[in-house]
Amino acid sequence: MIEKKILEIIKSIYPSKTNIPLHEPFFDEGDYAIVADTVKSSFVSSVGEHVINFEKNIAEFTNSKMAVVTSNGTSALHVTLYALGVSQEHYVLTQALSFVATSNAIRHCGADPIFIDINKDTLGMCPDSLSSWLDNNAELNDRNECIYKVDGRIIKACLPMHTFGHALQIDKLISVCEQWKLPLIEDSAEALGTNYANQSVGTFGKAGIFSFNGNKIITTGGGGAIITNDEEFGRKIKHLSTTAKILHPYNFYHDEVGFNYRMPNLNAALGVSQLKKLASFLETKREIANYYRSNLENEDVSFVVEPNLCKSNYWLNTIICNDEEQKTNIIEFTNSQGVNTRPAWKPLNTLPMFNNLPKDELSVTEWAYKRIVNLPSSFNGYVR
Ligand SMILES: *Cc1c(COP(=O)(O)O)cnc(C)c1O
Repeated sequence: MIEKKILEIIKSIYPSKTNIPLHEPFFDEGDYAIVADTVKSSFVSSVGEHVINFEKNIAEFTNSKMAVVTSNGTSALHVTLYALGVSQEHYVLTQALSFVATSNAIRHCGADPIFIDINKDTLGMCPDSLSSWLDNNAELNDRNECIYKVDGRIIKACLPMHTFGHALQIDKLISVCEQWKLPLIEDSAEALGTNYANQSVGTFGKAGIFSFNGNKIITTGGGGAIITNDEEFGRKIKHLSTTAKILHPYNFYHDEVGFNYRMPNLNAALGVSQLKKLASFLETKREIANYYRSNLENEDVSFVVEPNLCKSNYWLNTIICNDEEQKTNIIEFTNSQGVNTRPAWKPLNTLPMFNNLPKDELSVTEWAYKRIVNLPSSFNGYVR
């Protein structure tokens, strides 16, 4: 009975909890103090030093030229695609195995997602599938735009996702995208702290985004960030995400329709304090992953481990079951015992708002959806 063994192993590393969540945040005295001080200062909203510092610290941590912090990861994706010029005339290539926000952001711009299959090593977009889908379905026009041959609409960008904190085969994806003149945006929402070839995810494409939602590796309550090495593009994003207001001590002048997507100073304060703990979170996450693997690898399931060249943040530990029945048994049994394991997201191409769009053959996506179980992976409460 593998589900009993899995339950026992999970309970053994979170001994103080009767109900074990999939992922919960961790806060300490430093977090409490900076949030209280920010409230007392009255600078809780659009003005304050923490936003500036948090942006600087994120840029430093990821070794990128610029960071812009936003109200959440979805708004970070939306404003980035918007700044690229994605609109209702366009398609954006993405993956069906992702949180709904990835495709929602494409639709918020009025565009449609096209779903490309993933590979088993990364659970993210497969460079070979991307390349062959484009070979079969796209052409470059005389303005070097990538066109979907069936209806002549422009494919404007590529938006793959670093799944559960494991890095995509990003160098290969970038080279396919370069060949097809497609800017690549990395949905790195789950992957803060993950490196590929010793370089932070989010820094390979035109821009990358992070999420600081309560279930991510660090949290600001709600929050997101865009990082980029293209400072002109970064300034455009900053401008668009802050109501397109021209800076002035008292005058209001906005030169286009912008978004109110800035991160409040109160949330940024928490971010500054949480980011200081990220190195220790990363160490513990790796320890949890090793513990699960060494105690369960002789059982009848396999683990998703960090792919070639990747140093993963191990945000969510993931097992691959033999079949759908085993997956259902594990999830039902552990949840009935107060332990929150969960399946992957239902592939986005099967949701009503995205089910009638051009797509790749999605056999690995379906294979993965039938077999994935995520295990509790919090830093908080972990005892070894
Ligand atoms: C969390 C997440 C986002 C953004 O989420 P927000 O809740 O808006 O911060 C986007 N994409 C993926 C893959 C995510 O996991």
